[in-house]
Amino acid sequence: MAADDEAALPPGAPTTDLLSLHESIAGVLATQGDWRRAYHHLKSAFDLARAGSLRDTLTSSYNRRYLDQWLHGPAVDHRGPPGVAIALVDLDLFKDVNDTFGHLVGDRVLREVADLLQQGLPPEAFCARYGGEEFALVIPDVDAARAVRIADTARIRVARHPWRRIRPGLSVTISVGLAHESRMEPDLAAEPERQLRSADTLLYMAKRAGRNKVAYQDRESSRTIPHPMNTAESAGA
Ligand code: GH3
Ligand code: MG
Ligand code: MG
Repeated sequence: MAADDEAALPPGAPTTDLLSLHESIAGVLATQGDWRRAYHHLKSAFDLARAGSLRDTLTSSYNRRYLDQWLHGPAVDHRGPPGVAIALVDLDLFKDVNDTFGHLVGDRVLREVADLLQQGLPPEAFCARYGGEEFALVIPDVDAARAVRIADTARIRVARHPWRRIRPGLSVTISVGLAHESRMEPDLAAEPERQLRSADTLLYMAKRAGRNKVAYQDRESSRTIPHPMNTAESAGA
């Protein structure tokens, strides 16, 4: 926004309001024939709309479109040692949360889980809402051991969050399937899908192993290892 128009902005105006404001100002400037400034406002409106289209409206985390663009975009070309990790995160027994405490509490839980997941990520990593009560963590430039530590720290952070402050009796845990790729594969286009599928299979294993677990593939032994669960964590400190 041009500096001389900034005073017109209410402090903390939501993005959609900003977008409308830019549009309106552009319209006024266009009727006055000030095309250069009108263009800048339209460009700002466009940039805001584009940024908004990559965010999930409930949690404000990145959305599936952002994830797909990242997975199939140029960033993938930079994959190499030590590798990239994709963790699929699913809230445990979340239907029970909705059924017991209502959908509004469920929505709040989703927002807080998104924040908790984002908190512990390295700067180059991101969290995206994958759908419903599932999130994807993408961690580039990471080796498998560190990726497991990051995912398990996220699991513990969610389990230890003081959920009872929202509603007495509320507790929330997550299960995680973590797939790590350590090198570039020849078929680049197919690779993200394969890694996502692998993460999904591991997530299913974490569920079957009792939930509140991280499941990942040990490349040496080709075994799936559900991370040990510390039951005290899930009590919600
Ligand atoms: P599991 O541990 O096996 O994953 O059990 P679950 O209950 O979490 O899984 P299930 O697939 O049975 O239920 C997922 C629930 O997530 C059902 C759906 O209503 C809820 N859900 C999905 N998206 C939203 C949302 O945006 N807000 C709320 N409040 N609930 C949502
Ligand atoms: Mg699910
Ligand atoms: Mg679930």
